[in-house]
Amino acid sequence: MQDILTYKNQRFHSLWLRDNCQCPECRHENGQRLHETWQLPADVKIAESRETDTGLWVRFAEPHAHESEFIDAYLTEHAYDQPAAKPETTSLWEAIWSWTASVSNTRTSSAMTAPSWPGWMRLSATASPSSAGYPHRQE
Ligand SMILES: [Zn+2]
Repeated sequence: MQDILTYKNQRFHSLWLRDNCQCPECRHENGQRLHETWQLPADVKIAESRETDTGLWVRFAEPHAHESEFIDAYLTEHAYDQPAAKPETTSLWEAIWSWTASVSNTRTSSAMTAPSWPGWMRLSATASPSSAGYPHRQE
């Protein structure tokens, strides 16, 4: 019996596997879980497992006996040890960057379409109280 199962050099926790069981008893056709994670026994253990043509077959130990099958793609996608953890981080940052860029683009374009301020308004907008005491900084 074991808590952690290794499949294709990737580790999977027994509880995660049990929680993500794809059988009709555990999952609705639409992929929704038919149980809550907290309802699962925390001490669920793997009694037996083997690789199949499509992925992995697992039998959970008594007293929480259950059998689950996982397709290879599902396990690969959810592996904790995956080097893809880095690309995910990168893509998150890329998403933030592109979002930031789109925001600043929006600002730039709205500033460009906005009517130009009279000169005296521009001056009062840029002069801050802290720089007022330093005439050399004002040209
Ligand atoms: Zn199941």
